[in-house]
Amino acid sequence: MPSLNKWTADELERARRIMVERQIAARDVKNPRVLEAMLRVPRHLFVPLDLIGEAYDDTPLPIGFDQTISQPYIVASMTEYLLQPNVGGVLEIGTGSGYQTAVLAELFDQVDTVEIIPELSHQAEKVLRQIGYTNITCHVGDGLRLPESPEQFKSIIVTAAPPELPMRLVDRLAPDGRLIIPVGRAVQHLQLISKNRSGAITTETLYPVRFVSLQHRRP
Ligand code: SAH
Repeated sequence: MPSLNKWTADELERARRIMVERQIAARDVKNPRVLEAMLRVPRHLFVPLDLIGEAYDDTPLPIGFDQTISQPYIVASMTEYLLQPNVGGVLEIGTGSGYQTAVLAELFDQVDTVEIIPELSHQAEKVLRQIGYTNITCHVGDGLRLPESPEQFKSIIVTAAPPELPMRLVDRLAPDGRLIIPVGRAVQHLQLISKNRSGAITTETLYPVRFVSLQHRRP
């Protein structure tokens, strides 16, 4: 039975540093705050025990229930696009392993994260508590069917792909807000939606990605 003890803390930290240098900074993620956050979050705690040896590889990994923890580069890149000065709170849809959630918690005042599979949400919550984050609230539910509320978010990140941009999420975006989301079926692209102070929307198509599909629950 593989265990965490096979790797020393030094080896894991070294692997993480190499991940940030070669997979993230050497590509196009340059924001030092994002790079620092990626250095701090122990990705190996968010993967299944038997995959710890691959935790710092340049790839997504399975986390059970047909879902995946995103590739480190994609986590860093999406975070960099989302980050603005005076960030406040962020809404994440698709907690999965909780890894992206932890990276957000390093940079945003408060993270509200929604996961449709209860077991994944509970496991992520356990790991996030164990690390010591106190600015994360984990919710179980369908991120597209959030309870009716006038609350709007300046930052929204979605880590599963709907076939089309869900307008109900655009509606939850505050003025000056940003939404980053993979959109598409077989071919998906990352989209950055920005709302200006007067509520006008612009959409930038960034680059092709491969995410699991966003699931729907019937109302
Ligand atoms: N950022 C996560 C990615 C997990 S994969 C990580 O790095 O670990 C995407 C997650 O979105 C899956 O866990 C899936 O169950 C969840 N998901 C899919 N549809 C959803 C929906 N409608 N609402 C909330 N979560 C959803």
